Amino acid sequence: MKEAFKIGSLMAEQGEKVSGYLPIINTEVEIPITLINGRNEGKTILICGGVHNAEYVGIQSAIELAEELDPENVNGNIIVIRLLNRSGFEHRTMSLVYEDGKNINRVFPGSALGTLADKIAYTMESEIYPRIDYYIDLHCGDGYEALVPYVYCLGVASDYVVETSRKMAEVMDVDYLVVSNVDRGGAYNYAGALGIPSILLERGCKGTWNRELVEEDKHDVKNLLAFLGILDGEVQKKKGVPKEVNPVTYEDAPATGCWYPSFQVGETFKEGEILGVIKDYFGKELYTCLAKHDGIMLYQTISLCIMEDTPMVAYGTWDTNKE
Ligand SMILES: [Zn+2]
Repeated sequence: MKEAFKIGSLMAEQGEKVSGYLPIINTEVEIPITLINGRNEGKTILICGGVHNAEYVGIQSAIELAEELDPENVNGNIIVIRLLNRSGFEHRTMSLVYEDGKNINRVFPGSALGTLADKIAYTMESEIYPRIDYYIDLHCGDGYEALVPYVYCLGVASDYVVETSRKMAEVMDVDYLVVSNVDRGGAYNYAGALGIPSILLERGCKGTWNRELVEEDKHDVKNLLAFLGILDGEVQKKKGVPKEVNPVTYEDAPATGCWYPSFQVGETFKEGEILGVIKDYFGKELYTCLAKHDGIMLYQTISLCIMEDTPMVAYGTWDTNKE
């Protein structure tokens, strides 16, 4: 007999799926989750939507995966967090926590005594991470961002975590892969520091979602589950291995103003080309953003408003000799 799977007050027996709310420690806030206790023994994975609440492709994919995954075909356990930043979602804050204006992916490790974002992170660390072997975080561009689909794996962790997360990322049917160079701040980065192989999938943007993108996300997650042996069936790749983009340049805006990007995401450019310009409300140029190296635009702000010290462009390149 396989053990019951418990988180908070929710409990799924062998072969059962249970949905309900998980309380955030020291708050009145509850987040919607689903526990799937598989028919057979195996590993445990976390599928998380809504670390950023305006990233709707990931949230809708998590909601549908929680409904579709059948415990009869599962080996091990699956935790689906359908929407982590619920208060942000319900106040349409772009992607910040409503109560404190914090980005959940900048506060790990969290705290039981901080503001709501810190407590959400702390709840993840204390209630979820001790129970999981793998983690896939479903993101997309925020309401003011455009991006091309790509996947992050971990670069700063134990050899096992780095190698396993890389293999997990390579299962994704996306064109590009980025190796993360941080081990805290973000939910999946910090899980990696704790020894949990983790990846972050980026697909969709601009505060929208559609059927095609959600189906692609679900296809990737189900492939990952099959690859890890958690779901019965074979991996069914549509594309080759994603191309590693390295180095990646992340440039924040040096000033607040109006932003005029030159390229679309997915377009390529040469070192020294103008990637965009920030102007004031009288059309006076405040800053010209130049490409520091050849690259492809992975994501960029597309709202007219740009704010000082917030993301402006992220672009990367790759070794063309390896092609
Ligand atoms: Zn995100």
